[in-house]
Amino acid sequence: MQQKVDERRSFLHIRALMATTTEGLIAIGPDGDVRVFNETAEEMLGLHRSQVAGKLYTSLKQPKVEAAIERLLRPKSRKDPHAIRLQLGERVIAATVAPYACSGRRAAVVTLRDDTALEAYRKRAEAILASTGDGLVVFDPDDIVTYVNPAATSLAGLKPAKLLGKRTPLWQMLAMKAEDAFSPGADGSQVREVHIEAPEHRIMDVRTDPVLDDQGGYLGYVATLHDVTAEREIGQMKNEFVSTVSHELRTPLTSIKGYIDLILDGEAGEINEIQREFLSIVKQNSDRLVELINDMLDISRIESGRIHLKIQPLDMCDLIAGAVDTFQAVSEQSGHKLIPKAPAGLPKAAGDRDRVGQVLMNFISNAIKYSPEGGSVTVKARQDGEFVTVDITDQGIGISKEDQAQLFTKFYRVDSSLTREIGGTGLGLSICKSIIELLGGKVGVKSAAGKGSTFWFSLPVAPKHLVRTPGVEGPSMGGGTVLVVDRDPEIANLVETYLLKQGYDVVQAHNAEEALALAIEVHPRVITLDVMLGDGDGFDLLQKLKDTPETTNIPVLVLSIVCDEGRSCRLGAADYLEKPIDKNRLTTIIDDLVGSVAAPVVLVVDDDRNIVDLLCRNLKTKGFSVAGAYDGAEAMAAIRKKHPDLILLDLQMPVMDGYQVIEKVKTDPATKDIPIVVMTAHQIDRSRIDILGLAQQKLDKPFSPEELARRVEALLESMEDEL
Ligand code: ADP
Repeated sequence: MQQKVDERRSFLHIRALMATTTEGLIAIGPDGDVRVFNETAEEMLGLHRSQVAGKLYTSLKQPKVEAAIERLLRPKSRKDPHAIRLQLGERVIAATVAPYACSGRRAAVVTLRDDTALEAYRKRAEAILASTGDGLVVFDPDDIVTYVNPAATSLAGLKPAKLLGKRTPLWQMLAMKAEDAFSPGADGSQVREVHIEAPEHRIMDVRTDPVLDDQGGYLGYVATLHDVTAEREIGQMKNEFVSTVSHELRTPLTSIKGYIDLILDGEAGEINEIQREFLSIVKQNSDRLVELINDMLDISRIESGRIHLKIQPLDMCDLIAGAVDTFQAVSEQSGHKLIPKAPAGLPKAAGDRDRVGQVLMNFISNAIKYSPEGGSVTVKARQDGEFVTVDITDQGIGISKEDQAQLFTKFYRVDSSLTREIGGTGLGLSICKSIIELLGGKVGVKSAAGKGSTFWFSLPVAPKHLVRTPGVEGPSMGGGTVLVVDRDPEIANLVETYLLKQGYDVVQAHNAEEALALAIEVHPRVITLDVMLGDGDGFDLLQKLKDTPETTNIPVLVLSIVCDEGRSCRLGAADYLEKPIDKNRLTTIIDDLVGSVAAPVVLVVDDDRNIVDLLCRNLKTKGFSVAGAYDGAEAMAAIRKKHPDLILLDLQMPVMDGYQVIEKVKTDPATKDIPIVVMTAHQIDRSRIDILGLAQQKLDKPFSPEELARRVEALLESMEDEL
């Protein structure tokens, strides 16, 4: 009796629970009959219990739910719960159909949950996400995509149907290369510029941020795609504008500067003191204009990524010595003392020689400029872990903390009567920063107002495989014909004047057709070429010259206002020089080019720079072309690329010694015929004497330059006799 009462009580208890729960509950027996149908289910489906109780589940009148029940009750069917979304009038009902065991047979239970509020909330959140202009893609921790907004769909051409619920890493989605892959861990955001070929080319700033819960647990990440195509295009247009204007300014300036230099050099006859003074003022100002235009071109080149960097190992001590030398006259005049400091054994830095030189000169020039009261300027190189750092320290006016923060931005100048008086563009430091950063280094400043400043820059230590290829310098032969190709006769005349003075004959061509015909007819020793030609692209002409057998070996020096050094060199130009033309650089390059073709090339290899310089200078005056290498690795690079006629070789050297060089040269069919003269001051290593036997001659140090030249000459002559 008591048991019956208890059962009844428990039954009432369950009934009360079922009646009050906010979820609808429906139980279906193994034969498909409806056994339980609670109040919430009645209310949600709009049916009374009497309409369904004991009847077949089809009486529920919900086709989707019925199909799921039917499937579940089928013998051997899958047992996993099935989720269904029902739209019933205004309401959204989430139904789950799940199995349960009833006296050993499969039965089904249907739960119904009112998701109307949740759904409205979801829709609102989605509307917000959809209305942002930026594309959003949400990932779970396993790279599985859980959400893609419409902006992502249209911006990057992503198809939500193909992505949702699938593991698609971001880089794959954006068709990036796997090595560029990026996605944040729990610890931080990342931003990357990505080029996407959707229906059209687009540039996107892609930002990834981790999604963390309030305990800091990693839930995945969200990628934001921000379209910057238009911004980049405007930037590009601005750069092109600056570039075009600068080029247009450079053409007349090339003439102005060139002809003033000629008058000042007395090429147009005697000038009196007053004329000299006035012309010097014109020259100073045209030089300032050239400098400003060069700065603007540098900036537009850097910003548009068109800067051409030649990375090579740099000996910082060497570079500092050169820069300090350049400023010697200026600093003496202004009463500054320039002190170079570099420790022995400093590793080489990786960088572009000309560009790093430019940076160094800029810092030194500023140190002198902004130390009006004189004092010393120290230029010190040091190793700093994986970097070589150079500090330029002055005792000048110093810079306050607020100004320091903005110093490296374009056009920024400290605003003071003194800086206004000194004058400048405020572009120098920003260019230095960009160049050094492009080379993988950093720049910075330590200073306080009135206490002097230390500007510094660092460059990565050069990796072992980076080897300098020594250049070939020709003797000043002062002879032969140079073909000058320039659309502008005034500039061609200017170049002609420079070269005539150096002892060359000159022929001029003002268009491509004429140039090619003359090159074949006259066979000049060198061609100077401006790639901006009237009747066709100068690059086409360069290509034709290199493709024509009669002209293919004539070195071409591209002399241009359009900075396209990379392209020129790829097409086979021997060298490149930018306008306005620096007279000395022009004649040096022409001498080197003529010399390296007309005179035998001697490669001098010694780790003692003084010996290399001395020998090179001497050999040049004796009519040889020379290249200097400071270790075995550099020597091998020169031998492979420049194929010298003779090698003067020291045996004791770092990196790769002379013995190794001999072995390599003599065992390679391409180089084995190059004669080697060994220069040595030491006892020869007996165990390696057979290697030495491969070398042609031995020369004991010390020897006189005359003796050297005689030996080299004799050796080259005997080689010619053999041929
Ligand atoms: P510019 O010298 O043409 O103005 P820079 O970009 O080289 O342009 O320098 C920017 C500014 O930084 C200068 O105008 C000057 O105010 C400040 N500055 C640069 N170097 C020094 C220095 N060594 N000492 C004090 N101030 C300096």
